[in-house]
Amino acid sequence: IAPLKVCIVGSGNWGTVIAKIIGNNVKTLQKFAPTVKMWVFEEVVNGRKLTDIINNDHENVKYLPGHKLPENVVAISSLSEAVQDAGVLVFVTPHQYIHKVCDEISGRVPKEALGITLIKGIDEGPEGLKLISDIIREKTGIDISVLMGANHACEVAAGKFCETTIGSKVRENGLLFKELLQTPSFRITVVEDSDTVELCGALKNIVAMGAGFCDGLRYGDNTKAAIIRLGLMEMISFARIFCKNQVSTATFLESCGVADLITTCFGGRNRRVAEAFVRTNKTLEELEEEMLNGQKLQGPPTSVEVYRILKQKGLVDKFPLFTVIYQICYEGKPVQEMLPCLQNHPEHM
Ligand code: NAD
Ligand code: 13P
Ligand code: CA
Repeated sequence: IAPLKVCIVGSGNWGTVIAKIIGNNVKTLQKFAPTVKMWVFEEVVNGRKLTDIINNDHENVKYLPGHKLPENVVAISSLSEAVQDAGVLVFVTPHQYIHKVCDEISGRVPKEALGITLIKGIDEGPEGLKLISDIIREKTGIDISVLMGANHACEVAAGKFCETTIGSKVRENGLLFKELLQTPSFRITVVEDSDTVELCGALKNIVAMGAGFCDGLRYGDNTKAAIIRLGLMEMISFARIFCKNQVSTATFLESCGVADLITTCFGGRNRRVAEAFVRTNKTLEELEEEMLNGQKLQGPPTSVEVYRILKQKGLVDKFPLFTVIYQICYEGKPVQEMLPCLQNHPEHM
């Protein structure tokens, strides 16, 4: 059988780290073709096209400066060209672009290809919750696994040890992706409860905003731990109510659950920007622009999607932390209002 060609759809901070891992791994794996394509949303950086910089200097100077990419990773600005002969597709864009990306590749992805999404976010539509994996599956017709975990991109790029979780409804496909992505310092557990894995990755970014507000207000470690715990309880309730498949509580104990909550609530872009939001008079958009150099926050837009879903089902009162974070981000609610939501949380009633 012909070796599988890998295409990475996305080249931001995390996408570039994943390209580094895959580029190195395929060199010794017969199953995969030796050249890896990476779709780059073209932009001009220091007077040069980002694709040219990556293909000549082997560094994504905008989204992952200071780390060389293996030379077998080739940047391509045409999305349809990048995906056309792929056997394996790795989706890793900020979640707000997924509809646009899928519309562009719909009908062009080989039918027998396999996909995996590393995108942390959800969408909300007429039927309520829509997972990013569902959107990709519907628009491309291919099987989609997910990968989520406690994985700050820069630490993974530096080769620091961490774990992650692959969720795959078809275990065999999950194991194929494990082969493609695992390294001695990036350890992967494969589970079948993939919808829960995906929801964990999306929802923890809302909780991270709460942790950042807590830091901005200097509420201390105990309060932050309470936010993490109450956030986890809301994540579990949300998954139980909205997942189409059976939710296993054990999934929350994988890297995608508790571990990702911890790492994002202590480090992370969402936390950092939320803290600055409390300490300055700037808006979240201004801070994202000023602090992240083109990288994107996933917490605030996810809080909107979740709020709409809860409102539609009349469940806002059952999720006071998710709700107040949305209101602080988008409705001008004073950040101090988070405290009464913690004090009167249904968990204490
Ligand atoms: P990022 O935050 O660095 O976002 C920048 C990327 O968005 C760039 O590739 C840019 O070209 C692209 N972009 C900007 N405008 C665009 C447009 N109009 N259309 C298409 N693309 C556009 O991206 P990232 O860090 O790679 O994150 C991707 C996903 O991975 C997110 O869902 C994130 O939550 C998740 N994730 C990130 C990390 C991390 O530490 N960075 C870790 C785990 C998971
Ligand atoms: P931030 O987007 O908040 O940096 O979180 C990255 C992440 O998902 C770590 O696992
Ligand atoms: Ca939407």
